[in-house]
Amino acid sequence: MAHTIGIDLGGSHVLAAAVDESGTIVDRAERDIVDHDPDLVVEAIEEAVGEVIGKHEEASAIGLGSPGNIDLGTGFVEYSPNFNWREVPLGEKLRKKFSLPMFFANDARCAALGEYTFGTGVGTKNFVLLTLGTGIGGGIVANGTLLIGNLAGAGEVGHHQIRATDGFICNCGKTGCFEAQASGTGLIRHALAIAHSFPRSNLVSGKPEKLGSKSIRKAAEAGDPHGVAAWKRYTDDLARGIANVIAFVNPETIALGGGVAGAGAFMIDAVVPKVDELTTMVPRGKTKIVTAKLGNDAGAIGAATMAARGGV
Ligand SMILES: [Zn+2]
Repeated sequence: MAHTIGIDLGGSHVLAAAVDESGTIVDRAERDIVDHDPDLVVEAIEEAVGEVIGKHEEASAIGLGSPGNIDLGTGFVEYSPNFNWREVPLGEKLRKKFSLPMFFANDARCAALGEYTFGTGVGTKNFVLLTLGTGIGGGIVANGTLLIGNLAGAGEVGHHQIRATDGFICNCGKTGCFEAQASGTGLIRHALAIAHSFPRSNLVSGKPEKLGSKSIRKAAEAGDPHGVAAWKRYTDDLARGIANVIAFVNPETIALGGGVAGAGAFMIDAVVPKVDELTTMVPRGKTKIVTAKLGNDAGAIGAATMAARGGV
C-alpha cells in the first residue's frame, strides 16, 4: 500500500509518521526538541523521518506542518513565535536532507486537513477545526478546499479579538484575542483572575505555575465553586469565538481538539446553548459542534495527506 510521510513539528517535539491511504498511521517516530536553533531542529526532524523512512522505503512524498507562517511552496518560515524564528529557510534546509518531494503548511492547517479528510469532517464540505491547547490553532475548509489565504494566514482564528477592552494580553501583543481567552492557557488565566473571590478554594493553593487546565475542568465537573465560575467565564469566551467563526464561514461542523477538548460532552453541552444565543444570521442549532476524533495525530495525518495530494 502506498504511504506518505507526515511530520508534525511542535515547539517541544516532532512526530514523523508513515500514513497509509486510509489515513492510518502505520509507523511513527518522535524526537524531543530541546534547542530551537534551526539546524538542531532540522537534525531532530531528519532523525525522526529517517527512522520511519527506513521501514517505508516505498514512501512517495513528505509533508510537514510547522507552527507559524510558512510558505507553502518553499517552506520558508516568515515568523514562528513558538520557535522565536524570523525568516528561517526551513524548507531549503530540509530539501537538502531528503530526496522525496516535500510539501509544507502551517501545523494547524495540516491538522484541519487531517481531521476533515479522516475524522469528524468526513461527509462535510464546510468544516472548521479549532485546536484548544497552549494557544488556539485553526483551519477552515470551505467548499471542500482548505483555505490558505494570500500570505498563508487564513484560519488564524486564534487572533481575532473577542474582548478588546477587558481581556487578557495575547502572546501576539493584542488584548483579548480568542486564543488569550479560550485556549487551555486562557482557562488557567480565568481561574487566576477570579481567585481572590474564592479565598477558600484549593484550586490555586499551590504554586500558580502548577495549575493546569485539566484540574480546573475537573473542579468544575465536581461542582467546586471556583472551578465552576472559571469554567463559566471560559466557556462564555469560547462560545463568543465559535459564534464568530460561524458568522464568518458558516460551516456544517466545528470540531474542537486539543487538551481542553478532552472535556468532551461537559464542554460541548456548556458551549452549544451559548453559541446558539450568539448566532444571529444563520439558523441556530444547525452547526454541529463536536469533539475532534484524531487527537494529537491530526497534524501528522494531515501533513501526510497533503503530501499524498501533492499539496493542500
Ligand atoms: Zn493574539
